[in-house]
Order: sequence, then structure tokens, then C-alpha cells
Amino acid sequence: MKYLSTRDNSLNQSFNDILYQGLSKDGGLYLPREWPTINLDKLLNLSYQEVATEIIHSFTKDDINKEDLSQIIMNSYVDFKNDKIAPILKLDNNKFLLELFYGPTYAFKDYALQFLGNLFSYSLKINPRKISILGATSGDTGSAAINAFKSNKDINVFMLHPHNKVSPMQQKQMTTVDEKNIFNIAIEGNFDDCQKIVKKLFLDDEIQSQTSLTAVNSINWARLIAQVVYYFWTYLQIRRKNLNFIVPSGNFGNIFSAYVAKKIGLPINRLHIATNKNDILKSIIKNGVMKKKIVSQTFSPSMDIQISSNFERQMFESLNRDSSKVSEIFEIFYKTGNYTFDKNIIEDFKKIYDASSINDEETLETIKKVYDFYGYLSDPHTATGIKLLLEKNQNETWISLACAHPAKFQDTVKKATNLDVEIPEELGKIFDKKEKMTILANSTKEVKKFILENI
Ligand SMILES: *Cc1c(COP(=O)(O)O)cnc(C)c1O
Repeated sequence: MKYLSTRDNSLNQSFNDILYQGLSKDGGLYLPREWPTINLDKLLNLSYQEVATEIIHSFTKDDINKEDLSQIIMNSYVDFKNDKIAPILKLDNNKFLLELFYGPTYAFKDYALQFLGNLFSYSLKINPRKISILGATSGDTGSAAINAFKSNKDINVFMLHPHNKVSPMQQKQMTTVDEKNIFNIAIEGNFDDCQKIVKKLFLDDEIQSQTSLTAVNSINWARLIAQVVYYFWTYLQIRRKNLNFIVPSGNFGNIFSAYVAKKIGLPINRLHIATNKNDILKSIIKNGVMKKKIVSQTFSPSMDIQISSNFERQMFESLNRDSSKVSEIFEIFYKTGNYTFDKNIIEDFKKIYDASSINDEETLETIKKVYDFYGYLSDPHTATGIKLLLEKNQNETWISLACAHPAKFQDTVKKATNLDVEIPEELGKIFDKKEKMTILANSTKEVKKFILENI
């Protein structure tokens, strides 16, 4: 199993080569040179962890032996608060929810990041060295990463967030993790400022010479393969062919994992992208127009993204893996902020994907409606998907992904239903814990100094 890049299809890297890298040096994203195949019958009656081992092993088999991988996976899901790990809830005839919020930080990112944390620990034991994880977060990714890498003495985590611009719950989830290797940095600026600082530091030779800087954002291939597992798990729980999924999307990571599942043997029929007001994905799928717009703030903040990085992987696939064409498209896009795909490429996107954008008002209405009809409280991200689920034809099997626990977004849920969400005990506890963070000016120099002092 070797890997190429979406901007250089002659590349031939191993899984271990690409594990710590987000981007390939050519600016592209990694994909396997060939798709493995999974035999569905072999998965029947396995546990979530065993299914995960079979699927992930098919991508890592030349680099990690299966017993070790199995142990990494066992360790990754011990803290999940549901026996099924990712349970299916039947909402109505043929309409289901796949609940993905039983991890330590109550959002779906735990399913991949807990695995990545254990995988890094394993690989650093074999090849001992110290690494520094550097990232910027506007919410969920930060807490999931901090929880995944805490108490690992070979890994320091430097996580930037915009000071006073994340929700109180999200801030507490990051800053109350009291471990020596976790450094929360609150920047006096906005999320874009944080991202700019992170990008500059990745290009800084002085920092790079003193520590291995690593990114764990959603373009990391190991994260995507861990997410493939719960699509297979859905099939194993409801045992129907011709599955259709609705996926609330931002960076196109979660839904691309569904595409991978389809490629390696899961009988998926269609994938429906739910976006909020930030609707670049809808515009690409409907009209082939990829146009840079300003990001709007919505009730589903983890989907407030205008450049969906992982979509590059789908482009590469739909362009028959022509990496020079992908590079050419991005050259035009970076120069002009605009690119329109050819008709045949749009047709290829449409063979699998639908896309809709759901505004804030519809999000609130859906949260209320689902509560009134089914007694189910959903978080605003999940609600964007449920809006589409309720409109689907009764004769097809549709599964919508429930991406976060409603307690994480209690203000929005209250606005919609006038109800106070019951806060899970562990989540409630963080409000009594002491916060630890460093507030720094919006300055790359200051952040660099802080990192160099603390590695
Ligand atoms: C990250 C996130 C999303 C978006 O997922 P992508 O993989 O970026 O498309 C949606 N909902 C929630 C709750 C999230 O945390």
C-alpha cells in the first residue's frame, strides 16, 4: 500500500512517510495509489474495534502489524460512553441517525483523533523523538486534539484560538486540561489571524530546526481512514444494501470518508452534503463554481468554512487522477479566487453527491420540529442534516450523521426549543475546573518565542 499526492501522481510513499505530514511538499493531499477491497461478509458479527482493525489494516498493512494495530484501536475507544461506540437511532421508517458524540469531547472528531493520538504514541515508541503539534482552532478540533495527545511526554501541543471568540464551553474544554504538555494560546485576534500565524511558523526554519512541527488537521490521511469505519458499522447494524448518507460538512473530511467507504466496497448509493450559509460546496456540486467568499458566522460554527480543503481529493478522483490538471486548477483559483469546472466533471460529482445549504432559521426550526415530533434534541450541526432527512423519500434508506452532543451548543438549542439541555456529568464538571492558557498578542514573533521557550 503506497501513497501518491493529488498534485503528483508519481509519488510512491509509505504510510509511515505520510503519517506526520498533512500536506505533501507539492502542496497536494495524499491518497492511496490503489483502493483496497473489503469483504463485507468477513465483518459480520465483529465488534466496532474489530471492524476498525480490518478496515484500517487494509491501508496500513505494509507499515504496522495487525496485532499492534488492533491494540492501538482497542486503546483508542476505551473512553467512549456507549457500548456500540457509534450507535444507530431509528427516527422513522427508513430514516436513521448515526450518533457520533460519545467520545471524550462530545463531537465526532474524537473518533479519528483518539486513534491518531494512540497511533503517534506507538510510532514514537518505535522511533523515539519529540514532536510538537501546532494548530489553530475555532472550536471542536482544538479540544479533540488536546484530549487525544494529553499526557504524552514525547508530544507537546500548541493550540491557538482567538481570545474570547470561541464559545465558553469550547474554551473550557480546551483550557481545563491540566497537563504539562498542553499549551493553550489565546491570540488577541480572530481565527484567520491564528491560522496565519500557524502557517508562517510551519515555514520558519529556526523552529523547524529545534522541533518537528506536526499538523493534525482534517486533511491528515490517518484521520480520514478512522472515519471510514463508522460508515461500515452503519451497514453492519442495519444490514441493508443501497445506503444513502447525509453529512453536515465543513472541510469535506467526514463525507470524503464516506466516499472512501464506497470505493472499498460499502454499498452506498448517494451522499448528500449539508452546508450552512457558507455554501461553496453546494455551488461546486450544483453549478461547478468554486468561488472564494467571506466566511459568515452561523449557528453551526464547525461548518463555517469557505475553502473545503479535502474537496481537492474528490477533484483528483473526478479528474481521473490527473495531478497536473489539479495543480493547474489551483493555480487559477489562487490567482483569481474563482474556477468553474467542465461539464463532464460536474456530472461526475453529481453521480454521487447532492448538496443543499440550510440557513440559521431553518436550523432552529428543525431543532424544534424534531424535538416536537420525535422527542429528540439535536445540536445545530446535526439539525442541518436532519432538515434534509425529513424531506427524503420514504422508500429509500437514509442515514444522517449526528456530529455533536446538543449540550455543546446549549444556547442555540435553547433558542430553538426554550429547553435547557441536560449537561452530561463530565461536561458539567469542566465549569468548576481551573483554566490554563496564555494570552498573546497577534504576533508570529511572540508565538514563536513562546514555543521556543516551552519545547
Ligand atoms: C468538524 C465538524 C463538522 C464538519 O466536518 P468536516 O469533516 O470538516 O466536513 C460538522 N459538525 C461538527 C459538530 C464538527 O465538529
